[in-house]
Amino acid sequence: MRARKKKNCDKRVEACSSLLINSPEEMISYTDKLPATLEIGCGKGSFICTLAKNNPDRFYFAAELITDVLVTALERAVEEGIENVRFLNINAVRLPEFFKKGDISKIHLNFSDPWPKSRHAKRRLTYHTFLDLYKNILSDDGVIEIKTDNDGLFEFTLEELALSDMKILRIERDLHKSDLAEGNVMTEYEKNFSEKGVPIKYVKVAYK
Ligand code: SAM
Repeated sequence: MRARKKKNCDKRVEACSSLLINSPEEMISYTDKLPATLEIGCGKGSFICTLAKNNPDRFYFAAELITDVLVTALERAVEEGIENVRFLNINAVRLPEFFKKGDISKIHLNFSDPWPKSRHAKRRLTYHTFLDLYKNILSDDGVIEIKTDNDGLFEFTLEELALSDMKILRIERDLHKSDLAEGNVMTEYEKNFSEKGVPIKYVKVAYK
């Protein structure tokens, strides 16, 4: 996602600092909230904020690389008074600095950047090095739910999963036409793509 430079971004982030985790040391305050759910690449945060509002008895974390995008998610959570979510302004490669094995019971990867050029495959959030990394923070019974509009990324993801020690629990090539549509919380990208008639691909996985 190419983000336009936001005016006063630093000040706006600072105003929401109570919802931002800046260092691994701060994680000590959340020990009693674990295991929690994590979205990686949360964008403007509509998905994670909706989940948090709908499930006040659970705790949520969301990681987003780009500060100019994350600021919208932070402000949304503050404005809506959501208390059971915290945000990390980090690259996903740093997640093991913040979470240890078992801290996370569910990971959501929603509309991850497809990085279509093969020389950029390592940046895809379902590249096998990322799948290995997720194993280091997920509980043994943890699950990963993946949604995408992108056929290339979806097929790549299935190939990487087939080579991993994960099993597919559920797969849908047109999520909105399946029985899962009813409980599905749409992301910003999902709304855009489904309005254009693009089928949403979905896979849910766990360890073997
Ligand atoms: N999940 C949102 C949605 O579905 O509306 C946003 C999708 S957007 C295409 C992908 C997001 O993932 C971008 O905001 C991007 O900055 C973020 N992202 C990409 N690579 C990342 C990484 N390695 N670590 C953290 N965030 C990342």
